[in-house]
Amino acid sequence: MANCDLTQSQLDAHWMPFSSNREFKKDPRLLVSAEGHYYTDADGRKIFDGLSGLWNCGAGHARPEIVEAVSQQVKQLDYIPAFQYGHPKSFQLAERITDLMPDDLNRVFFTGSGSEAVETALKMARAYWRKKGQGTKTRFIGRAKGYHGVNFGGISVGGIGPNRVLYGQGIDAVHLPHTMLPDNKFVQGMPDDGAHLADYLEELLAVSDASNVAGVIVEPMAGSIGVIPPPKGYLKRLRELCDKHNLLLIFDEVITGFGRMGSYSGAEEFGVTPDLMVVAKQITNGVVPMGGVIAKQEIYDTFMDNGGKDYMIELPHGYTYSAHPLACAAGLASLDILEKDQLIPRVKQISPKFEEILHSLKGSRHVTDIRNYGLAGGITLESAPGEPALRPYQVAMKCWEKGFYVRYGGDTLQLGMPFTVETDEIDSVINAIGESLNEVD
Ligand code: PLP
Repeated sequence: MANCDLTQSQLDAHWMPFSSNREFKKDPRLLVSAEGHYYTDADGRKIFDGLSGLWNCGAGHARPEIVEAVSQQVKQLDYIPAFQYGHPKSFQLAERITDLMPDDLNRVFFTGSGSEAVETALKMARAYWRKKGQGTKTRFIGRAKGYHGVNFGGISVGGIGPNRVLYGQGIDAVHLPHTMLPDNKFVQGMPDDGAHLADYLEELLAVSDASNVAGVIVEPMAGSIGVIPPPKGYLKRLRELCDKHNLLLIFDEVITGFGRMGSYSGAEEFGVTPDLMVVAKQITNGVVPMGGVIAKQEIYDTFMDNGGKDYMIELPHGYTYSAHPLACAAGLASLDILEKDQLIPRVKQISPKFEEILHSLKGSRHVTDIRNYGLAGGITLESAPGEPALRPYQVAMKCWEKGFYVRYGGDTLQLGMPFTVETDEIDSVINAIGESLNEVD
């Protein structure tokens, strides 16, 4: 075996998620330690972390404050039953989070991941309307190219066609068009054109009727599909239309929450407040799995006011690992770091440099579009005949050989710089991508 001590049967035993298992197991890319902006692989090579893990380690790896907080927590209280019992840190973390969120988004329901948080938000939305006596409002409106995790609700409201090829239909959902207009290619930041695409909601409602629709779910900036910043005015228009037609607006901020946009949320950055916000990833800096739904108080109150007798459960929903003590400890320490190290202003300050260097790839071989916002960047590559996903994979593998982890997915490459990235690191990863593009047919 080339670069590790694992046996073939160990490699075979693990069915890896979202991975080309057969290709990986021929020549495993094994990461064995991490610090700051770098991984070390099993051969001892330093690998620059060009996606902050999976968009979740923005404050850098192995932050001593988080290591200490989690170590202390596991010694003091490793687990409690998540239902009907509490521990102090979940309440402290919930208040910290709500203090950072706009307006009256001030009630937090914890989950174990982004996908679980999406399902939670969808169930909350449906149940909310039932509690209000409007039980016909069950359908959801998502958006083409939207990614909302992997569970059945999430893939149904998501706009990724191949999910339906493999998994079939899920819950009842229809979709807005995506906002990648041909004229917006290579626009830096938010495109001027495209707000009108939100109006398509009214066409969907003309068929569905709002009396059957629970809500609209979008990522304020689509991430996993290859970074699609919202056109100027688009989210505001969606908000207006949801108000007009009595629909809940749900923002999936699993990637945009807690700093990547240069604000604590996409809602804050883009000036539009949803009714429910889904978060995960960066809350714990990736150290312990955690997700959450942040609800407007009116939604929480609706459940409390219609919950029956006090001993009864108002929302029969939750996970064994909701508000896990280790996740809460990691969350509190991560938020401390964001504040203490002023990482949100730091993202704002370095983003223009990232934008400039990223867009220097315009004109490079195979590149047909580049998009960015905050410290997120997406590069679309022209498809090899019949194989749209091939070139991004090949380029990412060339980057890996050069010591850079760059994510690939569909026909895109994706970058999510650590919040403390330096200009020379941005230069290096973009140079590596530029060279790799030239090395691929
Ligand atoms: N929603 C969005 C916008 C995401 O980007 C992701 C993951 O990338 C998810 C949901 C799912 O989160 P998880 O992988 O933690 O289940």
